[in-house]
Amino acid sequence: MRNSVIRKFLVLSLIFSFIGGCSRLDPAQLRRASQTKVLMGTYVSVDVCYERGKAAALSDAYDEVWARLKEVEGGMSIYDPQSEISQLNRSYPDAVPVGHDLYYVLESSTRLSELTRGAFDITVSPLVHLWRDSAQEKRIPTKAQIALAKDGVGMPYIELLEDQRARLLKSGMSLDLGGIAKGYAVDEAARVLRSKGFQDFFIDAGGDLYVGGRSCKGTPWRIGVRNPAQRDQIIDVVEVRNQAVTTSGNYEQYFEIDGQSYSHIIDPRTGVPQKGIVSATVIAPITSEADALATALCVLAEQEGIELI
Ligand code: AMP
Ligand code: MG
Repeated sequence: MRNSVIRKFLVLSLIFSFIGGCSRLDPAQLRRASQTKVLMGTYVSVDVCYERGKAAALSDAYDEVWARLKEVEGGMSIYDPQSEISQLNRSYPDAVPVGHDLYYVLESSTRLSELTRGAFDITVSPLVHLWRDSAQEKRIPTKAQIALAKDGVGMPYIELLEDQRARLLKSGMSLDLGGIAKGYAVDEAARVLRSKGFQDFFIDAGGDLYVGGRSCKGTPWRIGVRNPAQRDQIIDVVEVRNQAVTTSGNYEQYFEIDGQSYSHIIDPRTGVPQKGIVSATVIAPITSEADALATALCVLAEQEGIELI
């Protein structure tokens, strides 16, 4: 599953990046560095525009960025049984202490769930598993199975205690941060780069992007959004500065049953994969929020989504 996701991102990267235009500093002094690693089940690339004399500082900054991203992944990956989220998922009915990263993401997820009228819901995990397992067995889940999985779905079943502890309130429930964790990781990478004195950069975690400052040519970074109906084409180009740009859709990752594809994004209200919205791109200052909102916009009906925007 992980490998196929990675392959898909390799072949069908959601976002293209471009640079162009004229410079603010002497272009001869500016360099563009680029590093890519596989993290969180996707390719994460970090491009930085830097002055020639700062190569050593940049190398240190890269080390710190990758270490921080590994740390975030280590806390939030549901594929790692030792991760903090996996431990929380096994903790019912106890209240357990959680680290700052996880607590922040749980708090944000609660807020975003309210904002999106329940479309964004990290307790959707039992439904994600049900649909994934059913697809592997080439069958559609029964109504009874959906009802059973839905029983543990609902943000009120997460209790956040003031001393940075969290408690799951329903047996069988579990949390899936797939719709927000990558965005949070991107924000953390941006924070590290800025703390090291780098303002101009471009971070892409499998379609969740944040762009800081400008490109090496002094112009805003330009981001092409893939046309979901024609994957080799770009439907729009956005020019942004100090903004996140995230895209969610039902055409890159999906389950297939009887030749029919089903979105990997589940409507928590019905227990069924979302359909209708093919792709949603959000531009916002905070990547974790943009990440969650793009996921939610795929769930909401078009009119509801436009009202939310
Ligand atoms: P994204 O690619 O950011 O749109 O996130 C999709 C991932 O989030 C899925 O693969 C699931 O792990 C998880 N997910 C599915 N449905 C929802 C939902 N309604 N709310 C929050 N997370 C979801
Ligand atoms: Mg998302």
